[in-house]
Amino acid sequence: MIIQELQRLQTEHGYLPRQALRQLADRLAVPHYRIQEVASFYPHFRLFAGEAEEAEGRKALPQIEVAVCRDMACRLRGAAQITEQLQGVAERNATIAIHEVSCLGRCDRAPAVRVHTNSGDHCVRNLLGRSPAEVSDIVARMASATPETADTLPDDKDGLLPHSAETWKMNAYAGQSADQRYAALRQWLSVLQNPPSTRAKPTDAPPSAGRDDKPAHPIIAALWTANLLGMGGAGGRAWKKWDEVLRAKGHTKYVVCNGDESEPGTFKDREIFLRTPYLVIEGMILAGLLLRAKKGYIYIRHEYEEQIAAVRAEIERARKLGLCGKSILGTELGFELEVFVSPGGYICGEQTALIQAIQDERAEPRNRPPELQTNGLWDMPTLLNNVETFAWVPAILTQGNSDGAWYSALGQPKSLPVKENATPHYQGARFFSVSGDVAQPGVYEVPIGITLGELIDHYCGGIKDGLPLKAVATSGPSAGFLPATIPLDAFSPRVRQKLADHCLVSAGDKEFQLRRLPLELGVVRDLNLMLGGGIVVYASDADLVDQAVACLRFYQSESCGKCVPCRIGSTKLVEIGEDLQAGRLTAAEIESLLANPGGRVLDLAQAMAETAICGLGNVAPNPLRTLLSYFPSDVRRHVRAEQ
Ligand code: SF4
Repeated sequence: MIIQELQRLQTEHGYLPRQALRQLADRLAVPHYRIQEVASFYPHFRLFAGEAEEAEGRKALPQIEVAVCRDMACRLRGAAQITEQLQGVAERNATIAIHEVSCLGRCDRAPAVRVHTNSGDHCVRNLLGRSPAEVSDIVARMASATPETADTLPDDKDGLLPHSAETWKMNAYAGQSADQRYAALRQWLSVLQNPPSTRAKPTDAPPSAGRDDKPAHPIIAALWTANLLGMGGAGGRAWKKWDEVLRAKGHTKYVVCNGDESEPGTFKDREIFLRTPYLVIEGMILAGLLLRAKKGYIYIRHEYEEQIAAVRAEIERARKLGLCGKSILGTELGFELEVFVSPGGYICGEQTALIQAIQDERAEPRNRPPELQTNGLWDMPTLLNNVETFAWVPAILTQGNSDGAWYSALGQPKSLPVKENATPHYQGARFFSVSGDVAQPGVYEVPIGITLGELIDHYCGGIKDGLPLKAVATSGPSAGFLPATIPLDAFSPRVRQKLADHCLVSAGDKEFQLRRLPLELGVVRDLNLMLGGGIVVYASDADLVDQAVACLRFYQSESCGKCVPCRIGSTKLVEIGEDLQAGRLTAAEIESLLANPGGRVLDLAQAMAETAICGLGNVAPNPLRTLLSYFPSDVRRHVRAEQ
């Protein structure tokens, strides 16, 4: 409630008036500090320190605010030049303010710019894939637009993009009318009306992690057979989370969909929300009824206005059809759904931070354990899955024999000799967002286990302008940058053996060709690599020093500051990166960094990893670490010029 009220005030005034905050505290009967602690945490809210600052700030409030993405694909496509040119426009017009922001989730049409008008109807426009001159011209025209002429200015809406949702295997209702949707819910309703059963164990017994321990409930068993993994990055087994929440004790349970999607390079959930909101909603309703949950929250980043509208409209439609709400399809089962619009910040995508935000707290990650499955929202058992994870559930429960085998069989056949009892194919399908130097950036549904090369060449049309591949960021900025060929001696003996086991190198090979990497979490983990939903591709002309520094700044800006080593370490990493990029390091200093990245950088990385409450502190050094390890010639180009 606090966050929604703050969002309303921010939209109405363009900032949070101090008087309105005091009135809000009175109205909600909460101490004023509660309002302040929340308002001061989220980047979406503008606060002034005191009365005098507010009086001054209100007068200087810009009419047009332009946010330019400074992250991976946008930087690659010239976002810095847009910022530079816009600053010239802002110098000539005091009603315009320019600032750089973290990823806006439109990496496929980089560079991404959002323009917010602080007057009239407070409209927001996206300007995507446009040149600096075009953006500057449009922003200047906005500043002088009347309500009549404003309508003629461009807005690059997501809904205008061509898409292939009708061909998605995930889309169980492709080609069907809207009335035919929610078939999984209708099909499984009688099962869901029975009290949910667990395996024949005491309800407080810890769930088994054994892959062979098939759950008793047929819906969870179907997820088990499918081997559906969490699609938010961590890649945990979906069935296990569902099973743990089912077993957890608590008078109230919740279901939460993580649609924060703020990692640079990741935008697949944006398309799933917009094209098939009914799949996400049906997956959540099925989970809610199975778990006897009271309510579900769909957490969506605030920059996804079209997606928020699409999901809200679909919830309303489902409610009218009796598919969600108090009495679902005339039964005694009920499940409410609500959209929670994020107040902003990458850290909100961390699952415990997201829960804190829904609870009207600062989005600072919690220590784990306990896990959300037992102590989640308001300390109650909570199932939290990613958008895509929920969206696969209707197809898994209706396609083939409705037992999950259909999904499992979607995976790519394995090229390696298959061990006894192992499937001859990888299991399942998933979505990747691909951006950067590919001919056709976008969102692609692919069989799990296709190679990185197949994704780039067959789905994305190859590298732009036919250039050679230089590097790939396989998990947004989190994994850093992997070169097109990795010397085998960069891997440990154990990983070299795994490369051979997976038939990815042959006897006598000195290098591993990254294009051969199967996009499957088991293989990727065997190789000590990372794989997320967002892949950024770099051609031979990419400036990876610039990219690495942008990624370091991203983590510095998005660290919540709760752990001191992460807060200070992320700043130190930026200092090292900026010194390097600006040519402030001597040849000896650069050689020392390259020869011994285990010095300053790995010391920092180790301290951050050992103390980090969440994953950000673990991965923040990776852009610099991989730059130093794999791209020494790029680094040496920045040596300080002799005086
Ligand atoms: S590791 Fe960093 S981002 Fe995560 S909780 Fe600690 S300070 Fe916050």
